Parts: sequence; C-alpha cells; structure tokens
Amino acid sequence: MFLKMVFFLAAVFLPWINEAKIIETITVKDIIPLMDEDAWLVVDLDNTVFEGKQALGHTEWFYDKAYVLMNNGMTLEEATKECYPEWIEIQKVCPVKSVEPDFIPAMKVAQQRGIVTMGLTHRQPSLANSTIRQLSSLDWSFYPTAPAKNTFIVPSTTPTIYTQGVLFTGEYNKKGEIFVRFLSITGQRPEKVIFIDDKRSHVEDVEKALMEQGIECIGIHYRAIEYAEKVYYPEVAEFQRKFLSVIMSNEAALLLMEHGLE
Ligand SMILES: [Mg+2]
Repeated sequence: MFLKMVFFLAAVFLPWINEAKIIETITVKDIIPLMDEDAWLVVDLDNTVFEGKQALGHTEWFYDKAYVLMNNGMTLEEATKECYPEWIEIQKVCPVKSVEPDFIPAMKVAQQRGIVTMGLTHRQPSLANSTIRQLSSLDWSFYPTAPAKNTFIVPSTTPTIYTQGVLFTGEYNKKGEIFVRFLSITGQRPEKVIFIDDKRSHVEDVEKALMEQGIECIGIHYRAIEYAEKVYYPEVAEFQRKFLSVIMSNEAALLLMEHGLE
C-alpha cells in the first residue's frame, strides 16, 4: 500500500517537477509583470537586446557564412572558428539597434527597483569590449545592478569572461553550465531567475541547469526578432564588406558624402 502510494505520488509530481516552465512571447510587456525584487533578470544579447543595424555584422550574416562552410564539409566548431576573426573585426565597428524599442526602458525600470540584472551571451571574450560599447550606444549597462562588480574568468575548457555585468560564455560552452559555475564562484544563490533568450534551446538549457540546483527559473522564449524588420540581405552585406576592406580615395569619399551616404 505504502509503495503504491509512493509510485502514485511520483507519477503525479515528477512530471510536474521536471516540466520546463517556458513562456513564449514577442513583447517585453509580457515579461514586466513577472519581474520582482527576488528575481534576477538574466538576458541574452544578440537578437534579444540588440541586433546589427545593417546587413554586415548581423548575426544572420555570421550564420550564413558558417552554413556555407558547413555545406562544404566543416563541422559547426570548425566553421565558427573560421568565421570568428572577421566577426570580431566587424563587431568593432558595427552599430546595433534594439530588437524591441521598449526592451531597454523595461530593464531600466527593473534596475531602478534594484532588481539584479546581467547579460548571458554565447559571444566569446574577445568580443567583450565591442559588446560593452554596443550596449552603451543604446544607453544601457548591466553594471549598476550586476551581481558582481569585478572582472574574472569562469573556468572552462574554452575561454569565458565575466565583465561589466555580462557573462561571455563563448560559443562552445553551455550557458546553463557556465552560469551555474558563475553562481558558485560568486557565492550567490538567487531566489528566482528570469532568463530571456531568442533561442528556445538556450532557455531549456539554462532552466534545466538551474532546476538541478533547486533554483526556480522562469524561462522566456522571446521571439520579437522574428517580427522585426528584415536587416540582412546577403548582397548588401557583400557590398558593405567591400567598403570595409577598401581604403577609399578622398574623391570617392567626397562623392559619396555629397550624395548623403555615410
Ligand atoms: Mg540570441
């Protein structure tokens, strides 16, 4: 009888415990009511907070290049390695724009309430300076309410860095695993985490990792990017790339400036 009871309770509650609590939305307006002082706001960057303002340097441009290499027989890891140096160079000069205009204002309100905020990105540490510059161009910094103020490396097989309130896990690491390690290094244990990412697989991964630590996580699969105006056109990116690598003559520059091209 007792065993029967145990099996019954397990059957009822185990699926509930393991069930991922993922909310799907296309607007930050649905996320605001979930924010409270006990919950950390942990946010992906690319295609969540911002996207490339132009075709060249947009994440779609990066994936397009990587897919071409993968179609020619490279693994995802090899293709990423091959494309990354150019990605780094272009991010140094590439402006970004908000995916949803209300997103950063909502994070600012959270910050004013003293809610802990941090970025959690797959970007590699070599992009840290460019990324902080891109965030600040949107008048945003995680730093004032970041869970740690210092800069340090989270040990892993491939490079990571935490700086200015953003954890750069690198492409090859799992966000969940590195975030959990970050928590143990800083000796912090949030009551609850709201994690926002445009990729469902990342939301599932972070939620699972936190659940294993017994930390409540509200995973938000944030799909605003799917409804944003299209920015990436391969032929436009190709043209922009030419301008980036060419030292323009004064004559050509003046001609373009006369026609209002920057
Ligand atoms: Mg993303």
